[in-house]
Amino acid sequence: MFELGVAPGVTFFEGERRGRFPFGNVLLLEGRDARLLVDTGAGDEVLEAVLGRGPVHIVFNTHYHIDHVRGNARFRGAVFWCPEGEAGAFSSEEEFFQLSGWDLVGTETARSVLSGLGWRPTPVARELADGEVLDLGGLSAAVVRLPGHTPGHSGLVLEDKGILFTADIDFSRFGPWYGDVHSSVDDYLASVRRLTALAAAGPGFETVLTSHRRPLTREAFAAGLAAFENHFELREEKVLSVLAAEGPLTLTELTARWPIYGPRSELHPGLYKAEFFMLQHHLDRLARAGKVERVPGAAGSATDGAGPESVPGAAERGSAPEAAGPGSDRVDSYGGGDLWRKR
Ligand SMILES: [Zn+2]
Repeated sequence: MFELGVAPGVTFFEGERRGRFPFGNVLLLEGRDARLLVDTGAGDEVLEAVLGRGPVHIVFNTHYHIDHVRGNARFRGAVFWCPEGEAGAFSSEEEFFQLSGWDLVGTETARSVLSGLGWRPTPVARELADGEVLDLGGLSAAVVRLPGHTPGHSGLVLEDKGILFTADIDFSRFGPWYGDVHSSVDDYLASVRRLTALAAAGPGFETVLTSHRRPLTREAFAAGLAAFENHFELREEKVLSVLAAEGPLTLTELTARWPIYGPRSELHPGLYKAEFFMLQHHLDRLARAGKVERVPGAAGSATDGAGPESVPGAAERGSAPEAAGPGSDRVDSYGGGDLWRKR
């Protein structure tokens, strides 16, 4: 287990499997008046170590994703805070599906995968807005809203300690991730630029903490952000080249070609869902730029059977197909049958 006292009252705990999904790092802030834990996805052993330091009074979940909330149930005595606009996705499975689009792979498949990973409803006591300051007594942190990954995805700034916590803007092997229904490429880019400006402001932040990597220096973080921006362009070039060679294609057909993550030997339904919605966000963005267009009248008319019902690995994971095929009705309602071509 990797645990690091970053500054007085600020302790970083690396999640199990080096903080890789479905785990994540957590940050414990201990003030005179309260002990606050940022995220709970670190795994049982790590959370035991956190609780060994004393009771946690407040849990702040940086967003509603499973690898950030899966340990919430262990903190029964705590109140739960989340970013503004996301409380429903914590407390209600229905609203969780509405924001995340997990039901694309079939409601039962989604339920089975998520409950296997430990998703349980969390009652949220307070939603936090951008800039809100959390005063724990002699230790304070300000919320920095970094949308795009999810609509409310937020980090924390501990200005007097020179620490920035950026949650899932973290240079993991997934690259920039915006695979939910209400994720946004433009918002993600704006968040990257906001962080670039913060990292450049001197003397500023000497330590950058993230959800899936070990602590980074400001220089390493700034270099990572610069490289990050290229991902978006490369992905759009890939989408355009697939459409040029094989288009027009429905969103479902395009997803089956895996232009973003590439064909995988072992596929998690969540990876399929992410590929689908990330492509959808790119297509919408490319359409606004006049580079692709939706073929009129084709919406919902074409699926080629390569949808999530054929996601390899789904059956072995105990997610039995639903009667109509997992998510087949949801695929169309999410635009899987929309036909796209390069302009
Ligand atoms: Zn996330």
